[in-house]
Amino acid sequence: MIVAMQERATEEQIDSVIDALVEAGVNVHRTTGSTQTILAAVGPTAGLDLTKFELLSGVLYVHRITAPYKLAGRAFRPEGTVVEFPNGAKIGGNQVAVIAGPCAIENRDQIFTIAACVKAAGAGFLRGGAFKPRSSPYAFQGLGIPGLKIMHEAAQAHDLLTVTEVMEISQIEPMLPYTDCFQVGARNMQNFNLLRELGQVRKPVLLKRGIAATIEELLLSSEYIMSGGNYDVILCERGIRTYETSTRNTMDISAIPVVHKLSHLPIVGDPSHGTGRRDMVPAMAKAAVAAGADAILVEIHPNADKAASDAAQTLYLEQFEQLMRELRVVAAAVGRTL
Ligand code: PEP
Ligand code: MN
Repeated sequence: MIVAMQERATEEQIDSVIDALVEAGVNVHRTTGSTQTILAAVGPTAGLDLTKFELLSGVLYVHRITAPYKLAGRAFRPEGTVVEFPNGAKIGGNQVAVIAGPCAIENRDQIFTIAACVKAAGAGFLRGGAFKPRSSPYAFQGLGIPGLKIMHEAAQAHDLLTVTEVMEISQIEPMLPYTDCFQVGARNMQNFNLLRELGQVRKPVLLKRGIAATIEELLLSSEYIMSGGNYDVILCERGIRTYETSTRNTMDISAIPVVHKLSHLPIVGDPSHGTGRRDMVPAMAKAAVAAGADAILVEIHPNADKAASDAAQTLYLEQFEQLMRELRVVAAAVGRTL
């Protein structure tokens, strides 16, 4: 951590900043230039609140040099993490994975039709929510465990893996037999108790970025899961809330290369929630692959307009098939397979 003092900082101010740093348990190396003094704090700075030092009199700014996350940081596994599933499928590495399915599991017919399409199009993961975090308590809340059982059956029939959202700790145990990958939704990215509990599970977790979360906060949330011993974490950029209103969210494509630089964890692009609009999903899916996404998550439905949730952003099955063809070309152009 670097503390830069103001140009006219007095010796007294500098000494009291040094005292505060020493009291916080770090070693201080002082450099005095012709106009300014710089204090380099070395030691256990991860848990320190930078603002506390910024507020000390005579301080210009405080800058962290080492990341506050350790397990999620690139240095922990410079070669990158490849999350492996029991049937041999992977997320991370050279092949771009595809996770597709409805926003919500609605009935047997719906999910079996979608599973057949997902498999035929060459994707490996079937998604569908059984517990839905809806903005309105009056909207469809999902079928719960019975719905998950149907999706699991459909996935098994086509050798697909299931990805589904867990909203609270009590759901983990009953979901386990029917879930290959637990999704933590944007609204729960900072549900730290849930994250800790998922650290005890030995199944991969797909962690979505919160709508107002920074990338650092996303990585700190993944640290909660990893510090419990579950290193199979997959991050997901699904759009953040900005002042722009032409799309439901603003899909932060740049988060993809940023995450690759800062972390070894794979990252998924979700253009469905990222845009909220069917007509823009293909463009952003291709952009995400071009930017280095390790997987794409996309909502599809045979009767997209009538989907029980997120209809406006859901692709028809033919649109998904077309997108898969286009994604293969983009993946090849950036040296990946799909
Ligand atoms: C979903 O995947 O259907 C979902 C609710 O996602 P998010 O948490 O990103 O809104
Ligand atoms: Mn959805």
